[in-house]
Amino acid sequence: MLNLEYSYLSLPGKFYQLVKPASFRQPETVLLNEALLEELAIPPANHQELVSFLLGKESGGKTSPFAQAYAGHQFGNFTNLGDGRAIVMGECITATNQRFDIQLKGSGRTLYSRGGDGKATLKAMLREYLISEAMHHLNIPTSRSLLVAKTGELVQRETEHDGAVLARVMKSHIRIGTFEYASHLGTTEDLGALSDYTIHRLYPEIEHEESPALSLLKKVMTVQIDLVVNWMRVGFIHGVMNTDNVSISGETFDYGPCAFMNVYHPDTVFSSIDRNGRYAFGNQPGIIKWNIARLAEALLPIIHPEPSTALQLAQTCIDQFDNIWVEKYYEMMLLKLGIEKKAPELYLLVDELLALMQNLKLDYTNTFLALTHDKVTGEGTLGGPEFKPWLDKWKNILNHSNLYEQAKTRMKENNPAFVPRNHLVEEALDSAVNGNLDLIKQLLVVLGKPYHYQENLSHFTIPPPPVFENEYATYCGT
Ligand code: AMP
Ligand code: MG
Repeated sequence: MLNLEYSYLSLPGKFYQLVKPASFRQPETVLLNEALLEELAIPPANHQELVSFLLGKESGGKTSPFAQAYAGHQFGNFTNLGDGRAIVMGECITATNQRFDIQLKGSGRTLYSRGGDGKATLKAMLREYLISEAMHHLNIPTSRSLLVAKTGELVQRETEHDGAVLARVMKSHIRIGTFEYASHLGTTEDLGALSDYTIHRLYPEIEHEESPALSLLKKVMTVQIDLVVNWMRVGFIHGVMNTDNVSISGETFDYGPCAFMNVYHPDTVFSSIDRNGRYAFGNQPGIIKWNIARLAEALLPIIHPEPSTALQLAQTCIDQFDNIWVEKYYEMMLLKLGIEKKAPELYLLVDELLALMQNLKLDYTNTFLALTHDKVTGEGTLGGPEFKPWLDKWKNILNHSNLYEQAKTRMKENNPAFVPRNHLVEEALDSAVNGNLDLIKQLLVVLGKPYHYQENLSHFTIPPPPVFENEYATYCGT
């Protein structure tokens, strides 16, 4: 029997709605993540039972699925939201005693669905599966994807599509928006209950600190800075960094209109709904700071009983953001160049490289890949005269450091060869929704070892033609 727990239901009732997921008559598993099942310590004998349970064919014994209430700032505006098409099926405990939510996406309406149908299309769920697994193998904290199944129903969008459900796994789906919900729509006791629960579940080491709520704010700021630094490392653009999509656990989640950048430009944005470029690649650090400030506001009543003291404590925390960001960001960018020491005098080297990449319209991933594998030859822009002064300067620093081999190892660990390039993702998804899973399975294998460059897979590193790049847009809510 699957041993699911429901610790979240110890919170006051306003934080959730108990809800039964839709039951589909003829669900059909399209992708199943067997490696993840193993990590979750679900015995092979129970795999089938889990799949049947998730797809609504079996009751799964004593279970209490629920949808979570939350609010959030969407594109800067406060809104009351909640899981409109997601249902937590339960919490699974691994062999190492880690707790994970197992959540379904696309399994019907909830109290929070508003005008939505609670459903999801096969293409969008396969996209989330593919990109979240790619992120995991890039060593970036993320929700994971356990399975995608076709529901057998059609879902109405601009046209009709095959419907699907995705089962995803995450340390917790508590988000900044959950705290905003408690702060705006609950009592101080509700806020305290949420904070206690979250700390106990995710950060028990701060439980006994003087102001656990202030420590929570610092923790979330740290894990989110680390997360966004990683996004910048691999050229990932989340696309909808609304506060309801920012996890307290520091995991990337809610893969809607996200994409990987090809040609480097900080203004790059692919999301069809982000018309003003609020969530463009280069804006992500500023936006995460803004989002952390919303968390700080929500936590104020429990940071300190005296409002002016609470404000001052929270402000002092947020004021440290910029310095921490600069240090961690450049530390990571220098690692991409093989340089390990914390060296503010070398920050300029990074800025100059990015400026060159922008001016020469260079591919972000491939530029670092070429530097990593000494592929900067006489031909092409990288080997050209505009790039040479920077290249000489960098090589000079590396040669002086006398640790060339270690530098190369660091570069290989931080510069992926394979990222989910938009054109490859689209091609694989289009083929999959037409019934052929070969391309998506092949892509999952390649993206499973993103740092392991292999010459025979070099076609996976070719950027899309500019015409594709210019017209490509991603959509969310589908
Ligand atoms: P997202 O953009 O995925 O973060 O979603 C924003 C809000 O819209 C969340 O409350 C979602 O649960 C809700 N939502 C998105 N799509 C649907 C849908 N098809 N039906 C109901 N609610 C939805
Ligand atoms: Mg969301």
